[in-house]
Amino acid sequence: MKTLHANLSKEFLSHRKDADWHNDTLWFLRKKRDYAKDQLREWEQLRQAASEIKRHTLSRLPHYLEKFEQQASQNGMKVKWAWDGQEVNVLVTKILRENNVTSVVKSKSMLTEECGLNHHLEKQGFEVVDTDLGERIVQLRQEQPSHIVVPAVHLRKEEVGKTFHQFLNTEVGNSDPSYLAEEARNSLRRDFIKAEAAVTGVNFGIATNGSVVVCTNEGNADLGVHSKKVIIHCMGIEKILPGLKELSVFTRLLARSAVGQPITIYTSHYKNPRQYTKEYIIIVNNLRTEIYKDEGFREALKCIRCGACMNTCPVYRRSGGHSYHHTVPGPIGSVLAPFYNKEKNKDLPFASTLCGSCNHVCPVKIDLAGLLYKWRQKLTKETSQAVEKTLGFKASTELLKNKTVYKMAGKCARLKISSFVLKSSYNPWNKGRKFTDLPKETFREWYKRSNHEE
Ligand code: SF4
Repeated sequence: MKTLHANLSKEFLSHRKDADWHNDTLWFLRKKRDYAKDQLREWEQLRQAASEIKRHTLSRLPHYLEKFEQQASQNGMKVKWAWDGQEVNVLVTKILRENNVTSVVKSKSMLTEECGLNHHLEKQGFEVVDTDLGERIVQLRQEQPSHIVVPAVHLRKEEVGKTFHQFLNTEVGNSDPSYLAEEARNSLRRDFIKAEAAVTGVNFGIATNGSVVVCTNEGNADLGVHSKKVIIHCMGIEKILPGLKELSVFTRLLARSAVGQPITIYTSHYKNPRQYTKEYIIIVNNLRTEIYKDEGFREALKCIRCGACMNTCPVYRRSGGHSYHHTVPGPIGSVLAPFYNKEKNKDLPFASTLCGSCNHVCPVKIDLAGLLYKWRQKLTKETSQAVEKTLGFKASTELLKNKTVYKMAGKCARLKISSFVLKSSYNPWNKGRKFTDLPKETFREWYKRSNHEE
């Protein structure tokens, strides 16, 4: 039996060297994270504080959102609400049309990925350029990001060189990272000058002063916001924090957890629109209230999208982000995905070893392994199951229930022909594993032979 995730992983793993490189690259980030957290003696206290702040904020979410809206509006921001992805797309289109805008520069935002904003805007005739380098690479290749922090981590520099040669006319065969970065910079500068509006994601929304905080390492969000007269910030409802004091806990955790940096290079607070500019904040739900309503899974909304759970996950590292067939991959993506489509994404909570490494690194202490386990139980009851799996479990139940049948099955398995089948490629468990030789005698036989009584 093959799930969609397993099939997509197979394709990824068929390029063995690239798959090994992917694994090593992410493990390198995980080690950097470990080193960075070891520099702070108060790391565990910070994690605890972050977890409690998030839990508190979620318990009063409507209150903080209303406060945020009120403060931001007072500051001169135009605050809008969007119920779902479609409404976000329609709102952004409307704002751009009202302001006679035809081209947009966008900084990285998983929320707008989730809503399919680029696709929608392009269909409506707008030109959209992603300005985060990794996002730009995947945009040129018409791919989805494979990681929420490093969107092009599935690509090696040679592939980037080829892509840039094709779309940016760089030298053929030149994959020197400095050269490619310089060419990307030149091309993006032209896009920044040309565009008439900027769209950004939001890392944190501050309820007490109504500001939005955007973290980037390339300063691309700032270039857009500071050079355009129409600016749109798209913020998920879960991004809200009570105040700046609480924010300080998260800015210390975010970059360290993500890539082992002490802080994100550009941590910008946007509070008041400049003169003659229009600055919008769209507060987006898109099924977050469904997660919020479900107390068993509510803590998934604590996520600050640092990507640490992906960097450490042995399944993510070896199967690649695209195998998750959902905007957010890895452990947290697998917890969120069934809320968006239970039937289609029912395989994702099973794409985990449940080793708990994700719990160990999560800066807001989400019990990811526990939530994945909870989903497995729910999805088995609530979605259609593969016939092979259902029959397999029924047969094993009968087998394990009955001592005589169990003994006979053991004997049969030891026969040459069945042992051959068990070790052959007809047995799906043998894919990527080696079936061990069955012992010549059973435990019971050995027990008897060793002069013990049965
Ligand atoms: S679940 Fe935790 S570790 Fe994973 S991205 Fe979210 S905050 Fe980071």
